[in-house]
Amino acid sequence: MKYLYERVSYLRGLADGLQISEDTKEGKLLIQIVDVLEEFADAVNELAEVHDELDEYVECIDEDLADVEEEVFDDLYDDDYDDYDEEEEFIEVECPHCEHTVFVEEEVLEDEDADIICPNCHEPIYLDFEDEDDDEDDDEEDS
Ligand SMILES: [Zn+2]
Repeated sequence: MKYLYERVSYLRGLADGLQISEDTKEGKLLIQIVDVLEEFADAVNELAEVHDELDEYVECIDEDLADVEEEVFDDLYDDDYDDYDEEEEFIEVECPHCEHTVFVEEEVLEDEDADIICPNCHEPIYLDFEDEDDDEDDDEEDS
């Protein structure tokens, strides 16, 4: 955008060379036009600078986002989907509240702290497979 300044400078030089002065109406107009052109050149240059900065910034964000995507999708596919497909089993469980059949991941069943919520009635499903320890959680039935 430097060439805009050069061309405005050239015009200004030309106006000087032609001895255009503000004494005449036309001279006043021409000098005003050159002034306005210079202001335009300023504004365009400023915009170009801001644009470059933004461009750089967006590029940085894009790179960061790519890193995040890689991280997230790698984790999803490598750690979860592959495992689900190859290793994890889904166990069929009947909801004690609505008798809806729920498929629960084996890993979740093994985790005692995991809350399994029935997708049908949204009641928590407590499962005690290993030890029949009903008293802890299941106090619904003995009313
Ligand atoms: Zn249910």
